[in-house]
Amino acid sequence: MIEPTVYELSSPGRHGPLLPALDVPAAPLPDAAFLRPADALPLPELSELDVVRHFVRLSQKNMSIDTTFYPLGSCTMKYNPKVNEKAASLPGFTNLHPLQDAEMTQGSMQLLFELQVYLAEISGFAATTLQPAAGAHGELTGVLMMRKYHLDRGDAKRVKILVPDSAHGTNPATTSMAGLQVVELPSDARGNVDLEALKANLDDTVAGLMLTNPNTLGLFEEHVLEVTRLVHEAGGLVYGDGANLNAIIGVAKPGQLGIDVMHFNLHKTFSTPHGGGGPGAGPVAVVEKLAPFLPGPLVAVEQVDGETHIHSDDYDHDEHEGYRLVWYTPSKSIGRVRSYWGSFGVLLRAYTYIRMHGPEGLRRIAENAVLNANYLKARLLAEGSYPVAYADRTCMHEFVAQGILEGAPGVHTMDIAKRLMDYNFHPPTVYFPLIVKEALMIEPTETESKDTLDAFADALIQIAQEAREQPELLKDAPHTAPMKRLDEVRAARELILCRC
Ligand SMILES: *Cc1c(COP(=O)(O)O)cnc(C)c1O
Repeated sequence: MIEPTVYELSSPGRHGPLLPALDVPAAPLPDAAFLRPADALPLPELSELDVVRHFVRLSQKNMSIDTTFYPLGSCTMKYNPKVNEKAASLPGFTNLHPLQDAEMTQGSMQLLFELQVYLAEISGFAATTLQPAAGAHGELTGVLMMRKYHLDRGDAKRVKILVPDSAHGTNPATTSMAGLQVVELPSDARGNVDLEALKANLDDTVAGLMLTNPNTLGLFEEHVLEVTRLVHEAGGLVYGDGANLNAIIGVAKPGQLGIDVMHFNLHKTFSTPHGGGGPGAGPVAVVEKLAPFLPGPLVAVEQVDGETHIHSDDYDHDEHEGYRLVWYTPSKSIGRVRSYWGSFGVLLRAYTYIRMHGPEGLRRIAENAVLNANYLKARLLAEGSYPVAYADRTCMHEFVAQGILEGAPGVHTMDIAKRLMDYNFHPPTVYFPLIVKEALMIEPTETESKDTLDAFADALIQIAQEAREQPELLKDAPHTAPMKRLDEVRAARELILCRC
């Protein structure tokens, strides 16, 4: 059943809260254009119970990681431990005001400082900013730093960024927003950056390369050391899109693979609910030579001797005497990229997740994410209905299957995705990456059990059989969801954006 809107549920004269009688004289509202008498506003009239039931019913129609397996490739929809929520709702944190004096917020600043240090340690970099609000925002921050680094050296001709054709759309978008030109690099037959194409495009107009490793095909860049060396030799910098850190955390450090600057998607790798679109956090870590360009403010340690440090090695953070934490903006900073402290609640959740796992646990995240993806891939390959792109390579945390089924030529990836909802699974990412036809990009994550993976594989296999025997079952899917399939062409052509 389609849930009515609160306006349709409205009943004249019904109300929720009972306000106490006025104990001050009534005064008219100022006669300003934006302030109309309350009864002129078309507000719905509902009891508290009406409101509660309306929103609970709506929430139950949602597919979410708390209700079902959610193998959305590239998004890392893993379990979000409830202890994260508990930590983030502690009153010491929630009652904090971002403009409070640093003397009164030393505890929270300590936590942020430690998170800066952990992220730098995990990724093999020298310094971290926690400011950016999401991965894409981290990319913009990083590319602006790359640009400023070149300009600072008096090198104004570097205006191009090389972006592999398997990259997430945010990479070229970031490049354009930073005022630089996108040069697309093809992938080779094994899904890596094409080295010949890379060499052909490297010259002194290249500011850098944006590299996702493992890439969005779920493949580890086999020539990563050569790729980063070539870019460096040409005077460029390498940006690392860290959205896929889940696959290598605790095993490999991007900073040791030749990456110069990288964002983290804390809401992916370090678990924060993000299906609803945010908030997120996209900290950026950099090598030493880029640290002066970091956006401010960072949390830094000020020793009693008056020296300021942004690196962990420079002080003993278990020894709480003799220093205080201060807000600090590096000398050549690109400036501010966000207000106040960044997405503090998300930073807290990531901090909790990291502390909860410890170094060994973080490594197991990568091991299990890769194991789960390879298990699922092997099950699909063994059954034989779904082609898998680059099937001969071991995948990392995700792989790209294809909705191209023998004996069912009219069935497409979209039909398979919609039918999965009838089996109570959230569909994988579809039609991305763009370089794989009919892509079904599957990322199970490390937090799923073998039972869940088997149930999902069984559903996909069953759907392939349905596609051959009763294709209309897929064409009309979903059958059980509260909203049926939308006519996407019509929705795009006949936009109705309001109820008026
Ligand atoms: C999610 C993602 C991004 C963008 O990150 P947001 O946090 O959504 O802004 C960039 N690159 C890749 C590979 C991603 O998966």
